[in-house]
Amino acid sequence: MVTFTCNVCGTYNEVKVFATEPATCPCGSNVRIRGLIHLLSLELFGESLQLKDFPKLKGIRGLGMTDKECYAEILAEKFDYTNTYYDREPRFDFTEAHPRLAGMYDFIVSADVLEHIAPPVDRALEETCRLLKPHGFLAVTVYCNPVDRTVEHFPDLNEFRVVTLGNRPVLVNRRRDGSLEIRDDVVFHGGSGATLEMREFGLTDLRTKLMAAGFRDVNLLSDNVPEYGILFDSDVSQPLIATKEAFVMDACVRTQLVKAWKAAHDQAVHHRERATRLAEQLRLASQSRWLRLGRKFGVGPNFTS
Ligand SMILES: [Zn+2]
Repeated sequence: MVTFTCNVCGTYNEVKVFATEPATCPCGSNVRIRGLIHLLSLELFGESLQLKDFPKLKGIRGLGMTDKECYAEILAEKFDYTNTYYDREPRFDFTEAHPRLAGMYDFIVSADVLEHIAPPVDRALEETCRLLKPHGFLAVTVYCNPVDRTVEHFPDLNEFRVVTLGNRPVLVNRRRDGSLEIRDDVVFHGGSGATLEMREFGLTDLRTKLMAAGFRDVNLLSDNVPEYGILFDSDVSQPLIATKEAFVMDACVRTQLVKAWKAAHDQAVHHRERATRLAEQLRLASQSRWLRLGRKFGVGPNFTS
């Protein structure tokens, strides 16, 4: 039995058969997602908060690559965050240049996506780095194999389509030199089309690629966080954060944070004053002769609520 509180939705869970890959919380989070949110919180706030408890800071800009709804919806509530898709609106192709958006984002989330981007994946990593502010960061989950070697399944991919032949998918590719390649050793993750597995990463190579793309540091989540149900077995890759310079909140976000703190503080003071008033009413009432008489007969107002 594994017990934990989900750091996405705050639900307390008791799970009899715990595994890393399937969702272990009713909200749909698994170990990787919870690990990702843990790292995101540490990077933004220096503390691991539950996502539902993140302060609302609309000055923080974020982008998602096909993020799962269970955390994307909360990110959109908290921040100026847009989830984007490769194959539907709001569409965003990270392999293309977006000069007008360069340096605009505090964070970009890439959860289980990098293995699906058509080669060369370096283009998308470079563009991601360009889109981030100088103090922005990339939060990643991606499967890395235990032999620590990147394997590109289709290095000559150029003009291609996946077609169904009989009842099996087949990849047809016209290489740059015009020759045709036909492959039926294709792997899909949770669907078809855009979820074709293009590669398996080795961690060393992934780190090298991120640094070559312009990131300065890559930090992996190395510890389990049992209270949040973040328990990795040996098969699953740890989430990571790739940073340029250390994350810093913009001045407008710091102001928002102070306003949010002040609003919460004022509310707490208001509640305390109300509780004090109620206690005083109760004390005065208990001294009332009529009330004492009423209590004797089991009647009268109830001041305990
Ligand atoms: Zn949850």
